[in-house]
Amino acid sequence: MATLFTNARIFDGVNRTLVDGSGVLVVDGIIREVSAAPSAPEGTQVIDCAGKVLTPGLIDAHVHVIANSVDLSAGKFWPSFVFTQARYIMEGMLQRGFTTVRDGGGADAGLVQAVEEGYIAGPRLVISGLALSQTGGHGDMRPVLLAPGEKTVSRIGSAIARIADGISEVREAARDELRKGAHFIKIMASGGAASVTDPIENLQYSDEELRAIVEEARAWNTYVMAHAYTPRAIMAAIRAGVRTIEHGNLIDEPTAVHMSGEDVYLVPTLVASDILTQFADKYGFSANSMRKISQVRDQGLKGISIARRAGVKIGFGTDLLGIELHDYQGEEFTLRAKAEDTVDTLISATSVNAEMMMMEGRIGVIRPGALADILVVDGDPTIDPSVFTRRGENIDVIMKGGSFFKNRL
Ligand code: ZN
Ligand code: ZN
Repeated sequence: MATLFTNARIFDGVNRTLVDGSGVLVVDGIIREVSAAPSAPEGTQVIDCAGKVLTPGLIDAHVHVIANSVDLSAGKFWPSFVFTQARYIMEGMLQRGFTTVRDGGGADAGLVQAVEEGYIAGPRLVISGLALSQTGGHGDMRPVLLAPGEKTVSRIGSAIARIADGISEVREAARDELRKGAHFIKIMASGGAASVTDPIENLQYSDEELRAIVEEARAWNTYVMAHAYTPRAIMAAIRAGVRTIEHGNLIDEPTAVHMSGEDVYLVPTLVASDILTQFADKYGFSANSMRKISQVRDQGLKGISIARRAGVKIGFGTDLLGIELHDYQGEEFTLRAKAEDTVDTLISATSVNAEMMMMEGRIGVIRPGALADILVVDGDPTIDPSVFTRRGENIDVIMKGGSFFKNRL
């Protein structure tokens, strides 16, 4: 099965400039050749891009596909309902051009399998399983009033995270998530905005616990992703060997310089706090939560500028919660445009994310040998940040792994 895209302007995921008049040959789900005139085998399907821009499928490196509600406390929905809504959320992501997403807590190996076997038309899923949180941490959504020794509840934790305290428990939790099919480990290393009890400024997990978790991930040949807002939490995560810092809104210059030197990635997530601010009344956030959400929102753009100046490798994520709020996924591009060139955001959402996820050369690039995740779009997404907003109306072709999800050409 072969497909040839002709007459395209190619954004290859790495270079800032488009290459005109190019062709891309896809054979058996893999990009075989990128050149002015690839030699296509007999019977190849030919798609004339008519000078439109061809890009790699987008990658969102911070999602929660089971986050059907902005209220993450567990035990409020039937699992069957949550997973059915997850399917709806994932189909929406693919419609918006995201062919791979990295789930930072909640999605399980069953969803990965359902996508791989074609039961869900969604993006390729790279998952953490449940995130690890300390007691009283960002992932501890339990009611405050628990009977002493209510261990069962503490083990179940919330829908996106599990509670683990102390060296032996964090090791066990990390090993258990990897055993269940996690591709990497997610931890909560600082307070959060959407959670009620923990101030943003607090540090979560001790250096010893963080190091133990990183050691387990590395033993499995993978890495740790850490939710962290403040310089103090980011520094602790870097000390322990964490690979990717999520949010990082309150980052300062010395921390950014250190991050850059240690080759640690930053994944800003601007749209989540931006949208939650707009929908605050609808979801009835407490004044305390709103104060925290506004605080990180206001610092997000500044954080990106600081990180860019320091040469930090910046990925692309969204972190949206709530079934209808996922529609704003592409708005991350328009928000990032206030702090950087749109082409740099696009590079973040393709090759940088791929490299960060240890999938360099396989996704996020238009190059021979990469999986055939390909978009053809109306407009120039290297200069226009609105191309990928809404529900994919500007995308003519969405190909994932060589199969068409959409083809208007
Ligand atoms: Zn987070
Ligand atoms: Zn998150």
